[in-house]
Amino acid sequence: MYAEPLARLIEELSKMPTVGPKTAQRLAFYILRMPKEDAERLSQAILDAKARIHYCSICFHITDVDPCATCTHPTRNRSMICVVEDPRDVLAMERTREYRGLYHVLHGAISPLDGVGPDDLKIKELLDRVKTGEVQEVIVATNPRVEGEATAIYLAKIIKPLGVKVTRIAHGVPVGGDLEYADEVTLAKALEGRREM
Ligand SMILES: [Zn+2]
Repeated sequence: MYAEPLARLIEELSKMPTVGPKTAQRLAFYILRMPKEDAERLSQAILDAKARIHYCSICFHITDVDPCATCTHPTRNRSMICVVEDPRDVLAMERTREYRGLYHVLHGAISPLDGVGPDDLKIKELLDRVKTGEVQEVIVATNPRVEGEATAIYLAKIIKPLGVKVTRIAHGVPVGGDLEYADEVTLAKALEGRREM
């Protein structure tokens, strides 16, 4: 139906989330009509992001410097760590402008049905940070779904014996929703209304 290079472009685009075959076709034709320099900028931006963005070796957020700017920030509150599932959740928390502590990205949540256990997440690395003695509170901001709740309970169970306060953000975030889709006010209130676990 399409010439081979176009078919390949459509196929690659259609692998992206939320992009169905029709959208992939529309994007491919848009790219075909682009000036050559724009197409080169797009492909270079993809390659640069892949080459230069990696995970912070301390908090596992995405960064182009290691440690990331938050971990090395001179005025962030180093006694608090906010634990989230995904780098996008850090961006959502930052948009609230309410939180001034540090972060830890787990890269997922405990989900026995999907075969995801504690060892598949950055939980050991979190414990190592908590054990340094600098941390006084761990705020668990995993998503309010079954997996996020299971992860929160697990974290409280292993962190509390270390003498560190563990809190859970309030259910301002709609159940079943992702933190990244919560608006700033809702998320700020959920943070403010956090309760000790
Ligand atoms: Zn970091």
